Amino acid sequence: MSFTAVKGMHDLLPPVSVAWTAVEAIARRVAARYGFGEVRTPIVEKTALFVRGIGEASAIVEKEMYVFADQGDEQLALRPEGTAPVVRAYIESGAFQTDPLAKYFYLGPMFRRERPQKGRYRQFAQFGVEVIGAAAPAADIEVIALLMRFLGDAGLAKLRLEINSLGCAICRPAYLQVLQRMLEKMRSELCADCQRRSEKNPLRIFDCKNPQCRHLVEDLPTIVEYWCPACTAHFQAVRVGLDQLQIGHVLNPRIARGLDYYVRTAFEVTAEGLGAQNAVGGGGRYDGLVKALGGPEVPGVGFAVGLERLLLLTELPRPPITPELRFFAAIGEKARAAALPLIEHLRSAGIAMEWDYEDRSLKSQMRRADKLGAARVVILGADEWKKQKAIVRDMRTKEQTEVPFKELAHALTRT
Ligand code: AMP
Repeated sequence: MSFTAVKGMHDLLPPVSVAWTAVEAIARRVAARYGFGEVRTPIVEKTALFVRGIGEASAIVEKEMYVFADQGDEQLALRPEGTAPVVRAYIESGAFQTDPLAKYFYLGPMFRRERPQKGRYRQFAQFGVEVIGAAAPAADIEVIALLMRFLGDAGLAKLRLEINSLGCAICRPAYLQVLQRMLEKMRSELCADCQRRSEKNPLRIFDCKNPQCRHLVEDLPTIVEYWCPACTAHFQAVRVGLDQLQIGHVLNPRIARGLDYYVRTAFEVTAEGLGAQNAVGGGGRYDGLVKALGGPEVPGVGFAVGLERLLLLTELPRPPITPELRFFAAIGEKARAAALPLIEHLRSAGIAMEWDYEDRSLKSQMRRADKLGAARVVILGADEWKKQKAIVRDMRTKEQTEVPFKELAHALTRT
């Protein structure tokens, strides 16, 4: 019997995994530059966290979560997103008691049982950041600036940043009422999901992919006309900040975002060349979430980027798996016995060393060194072993020198 990976989930092998490491390194570097510290939360959480944190009427909670009861009958879920777990960790750690402002980033796999297609998988990786404890527009601006810098540094071009404000507890209810009333009138024409959404959270109908629903919602009023003065001022401040940083963006009054707790700023970045799944990342402000999850009343803002989609779009240089590799070719019993401690010694000195596990001919070992892209090869045969020296061959210039064992590390690191 042979096995395959679970549908919608993928292996990453070298050299592709090298490109992943490179993207993750860019994410860490950019996050550090903006003062964000890494948070790693478990892959599994209590299901209730997501029901509460994402919202019951969301597509994720309704039908995409991997949920199971463990042997103790605890209801658990593979995390479908990173914000609720990070906020839970923030509350549980009591971080807010020592510092009113927390800036976190995370990197890792998320799970959603969606229909797989190009750019949409059942396990996918996200890089995300959360600023918890800042209500000012400056936080929204910084989060968006970080996102755009990350995407730029990762080599993405032709990006479109769309931004909206979803209003707040003061102005949104009036808008939702109007929306609900209008949706009631067109109820029979909406898809089953949207019929339910129109009651539980009408904003979600803007997320619907059904072509008929999309067409129907085009004529509905937008939140923009209902913003209160404070929301208008916040949104304007965010836009002015983005302009100052020369971050191009457009208002899209139909961005709703999937999560219930989004207020005010919501944004999405799309890219050309991804087909239907063209959203690379998105985020927004979630001022009610921390409280809803049992924490203090502190605001938050963040984003998440999908790394698979990003990697579909960028041709990152794929460096060799171990740059600056050296190869140790030992021939004959005595030389091979001496080789292993020498190789370990060189590795201790910080040199990436490869060698052949089997006692093969020099020719075949040289071929392997060449295939691996080794810059230099240490050759040790019976004659050299007697002299306690090895030959160091520069694979580019073909130049060979005899080097005493003690000086090997130096000879191999010399440029
Ligand atoms: P969301 O958490 O839904 O706001 O998604 C944020 C980003 O994660 C999206 O813009 C995508 O880049 C990525 N993403 C979401 N769902 C998937 C998926 N099923 N497969 C691959 N990437 C995804």
